Amino acid sequence: MLPEFELMIDDSLGFTISVYGWLLSEDHEIHTTNLRSVCNITVSELLRNINSLHICPGVELFELSRNIVHHLIPKSIDPLFIDNDGDVNSFPHKEYWRTHSCTVLFEHGEQCSSCYQYSHRSELIHKAKEKLNEPAHLFSPVSQTAPQRIKLTLQMQWLKCAELLGRGSHFLHLTHL
Ligand SMILES: [Zn+2]
Repeated sequence: MLPEFELMIDDSLGFTISVYGWLLSEDHEIHTTNLRSVCNITVSELLRNINSLHICPGVELFELSRNIVHHLIPKSIDPLFIDNDGDVNSFPHKEYWRTHSCTVLFEHGEQCSSCYQYSHRSELIHKAKEKLNEPAHLFSPVSQTAPQRIKLTLQMQWLKCAELLGRGSHFLHLTHL
């Protein structure tokens, strides 16, 4: 199983850190501050620094995009244990969606700045798209309303008319009797 943090030190005393198998970028602050060498920091201090940082939760997936990467982490489970939720996932895993430049380990806030910017942008796009699926108000100016929303309004009005006509004919039918 993938360890949460991995600190690899090579023969030249250079170090590399990974989080659930995701290698931190060369320009990550934790690498650059100590020139990526344990000649400039003790291992225990380095571990303390790693532990003081948070793991970025990544972004919410609204739709697949080439700007985000799936960070899938296999999870260790007891195969003889069936939990109460009846989770029978044949590939037990934990997952994140991250931007390519996600720093993964960050100091404070809810997300790293790259994921935060992406989330903000994609949320706005998602809301705008959702709005496109809502019928426009009856008195919305046609020139400023998306054709898709006008179409939905017309369809709704047509359905209402059909319903009213249906009721009317039923009423006529009764009076006629
Ligand atoms: Zn991130």
